[in-house]
Amino acid sequence: MEKAKTIFLSILRDKNISRAKFRETARRLAEIIAHETLEHIETKTIPIETPIAPAQGVAIKPHIVLIPILRSGITMLEPFLDYFTKATVGVVGLKRDEKTAIAHMYYNNVPPIPDNHKIIILDPMIATGGTAVSTLEILKERGIKEENIIFASIICAPEGLQNIRSEFPKITILTAGIDDQLNKDKFIIPGLGDFGDRYFGTE
Ligand code: URA
Repeated sequence: MEKAKTIFLSILRDKNISRAKFRETARRLAEIIAHETLEHIETKTIPIETPIAPAQGVAIKPHIVLIPILRSGITMLEPFLDYFTKATVGVVGLKRDEKTAIAHMYYNNVPPIPDNHKIIILDPMIATGGTAVSTLEILKERGIKEENIIFASIICAPEGLQNIRSEFPKITILTAGIDDQLNKDKFIIPGLGDFGDRYFGTE
């Protein structure tokens, strides 16, 4: 999948593509990350009946809770629901202040999460990691184990990764690309600009 990730990321980065192409490519990348996420989830054997004979099948073992971070995280929700069809969804709304880049929470609707559930947080861009850390803190306050959390993204800045890993070393972070650094406005270089603005058309 590494070549597919690089090719689709190259398309997504191009400032000249149409909004339709941006959405289509973002979806393809989210599907690749969802596929990769599945590799980190335990499975169980199940009995099934084919039209011909009984057989042994495989199914996802833990209950999955998807947590898209508003706004850009919701763009990854549908591709992930295609893979994790029985998942429940908890939504967190965090917006970073454009000047300070500090994340402010304006919505929190996460369902009760028992110990044996697996949580997949969705946010395509990890820049400073501030939004990710705030979300992880909410989950920690609820007693959720780091080992049960996967963070699914599309592009990360090294600063953001470092920030998350220093506070939450045991979570799994999946991404299609780790870029060079952040600029002074906390945008990822080379990145792809503002993901939400390009996807939703609010630039
Ligand atoms: N969010 C984005 O959409 N783009 C960045 O470069 C950083 C954060």
